[in-house]
Amino acid sequence: MQLPAVAVSQSPEDKFREYLASRPRPQRFTGQQRDLVHYIFSQHNHFDAEQLIDAMKQAGFTVSRATVYRTLAKLVDARLLRRLEVGPRTFYEHDYGYPQHEHMHCEVCGKMIEFQSQALETVMRDVCRQHLFNATGHTFIIRGTCAECNRARVTKRRLDLI
Ligand SMILES: [Zn+2]
Ligand SMILES: [Zn+2]
Repeated sequence: MQLPAVAVSQSPEDKFREYLASRPRPQRFTGQQRDLVHYIFSQHNHFDAEQLIDAMKQAGFTVSRATVYRTLAKLVDARLLRRLEVGPRTFYEHDYGYPQHEHMHCEVCGKMIEFQSQALETVMRDVCRQHLFNATGHTFIIRGTCAECNRARVTKRRLDLI
């Protein structure tokens, strides 16, 4: 399931270029970084650095592990990606051009389900206002078992009873 995209005026590549150029010490946009940005923004996904490295290698790209880790950190800083801490792992997903949403994480199959809730957004905004808190981000993940895994479990339990 993918939520509808949000209209943006710049391509992710242009936005990242602008970010690099605006640093106190401007940085060059390298070929490897371009491959990374294109690859990451070609589909909406929740991935960690190692999954990204494997997928890109399989797709025939040459990317160094150090470049991937460094570029992911910069993409987060440039607000193109957002970080998602799931247990001990760090996942990434599109922030730029993608609507605000929250997650449910299935602990059996690893699936990440996205949902939007106006009510949750209102609560977070109200709480921050009460505490005069200037929020820059948040992580809200519901852990548990998805519908399919639940069904599989019930079926297995039934079979065990026979
Ligand atoms: Zn599941
Ligand atoms: Zn997501």
